[in-house]
Amino acid sequence: MPLIPKTFFCKLLGCTWQHHVDDPKTVWTASKNMCELEQESGEEPRFFQRCVRCGIEREWDTKGA
Ligand SMILES: [Zn+2]
Repeated sequence: MPLIPKTFFCKLLGCTWQHHVDDPKTVWTASKNMCELEQESGEEPRFFQRCVRCGIEREWDTKGA
């Protein structure tokens, strides 16, 4: 195991971002029998980026990308 923490490279070189999308539609299908959860159907998918090294997340501005 390397002694240098992964975050060291992030501070040095910057984070390596990878795009992710959390689609709430795929989340609540497991509980489709519960009527209350239908309220969440209008929820927008969440776009975010995650660093492949340190794993921190940040919002992904789809307009700016
Ligand atoms: Zn990072």
